[in-house]
Amino acid sequence: MGKVIAIDGPAGAGKSTISRLLARKLGYRYLDTGAMYRAITYLALEQGIDIHDTEEIVQLSRNIDLNITPPDENNVSHVFINGRDVTDRLRTKEVDLNVSTVAKNRAVRELMTEMQRNIARSGNIILDGRDIGTRVLPDADFKFFITASLEERARRRWKELKDKGLEVSLAEIEKEIAERDLEDSTREIAPLVKAEDAILIDTSHLSIPEVLDKLLSYIKDEEND
Ligand code: C5P
Repeated sequence: MGKVIAIDGPAGAGKSTISRLLARKLGYRYLDTGAMYRAITYLALEQGIDIHDTEEIVQLSRNIDLNITPPDENNVSHVFINGRDVTDRLRTKEVDLNVSTVAKNRAVRELMTEMQRNIARSGNIILDGRDIGTRVLPDADFKFFITASLEERARRRWKELKDKGLEVSLAEIEKEIAERDLEDSTREIAPLVKAEDAILIDTSHLSIPEVLDKLLSYIKDEEND
């Protein structure tokens, strides 16, 4: 049976970058569970569905044909909705502002959780999200909670957008991230919270290779026990 690694944490902590690199290093698969909630949100917005209309959103999630590819040579996983590549449309401000509302929907979470468990069943996989170590796969072999200060997470996101040629204010990004974290951590179902047995890693003052080394050292230590 292959191993399962759960990586949770707040928005912009670097979970997906680290997860992709770790997956490559270990030869594991990688599932970005945030991309699943983002895909539903994107499709709902595109179809003009009211994001607060629980029934419509559930209907949409039931019928969606969601396919996420393993990371390519540029470390990018492509997300296909009904055969259409929507990867570049999932990290927009509009999706950022609406995704937490979709992610609060109980039936949507049940559907996504089931899909995530099915994908993880054969092991040798890393999943990142908000509730992987607490709800989706509480028996995961390794659990990490990756975080960083709000200022640092906002700065990273700002830089990412700037590199894409988008001019946005740092203060505005900080506010949006804080709001999304608050919504995610105070929702009733599967809120963002560190699993008691997850290893906490604060990346505020760490480079990506340093974070990767830390994770790898925990994994190796455990395997040598
Ligand atoms: O990780 P990412 O920022 O792409 O996640 C987008 C949103 O999807 C989160 O803010 C949260 O509302 C939701 N999410 C979730 N559970 C997960 C992964 C993401 O509720 N396992």
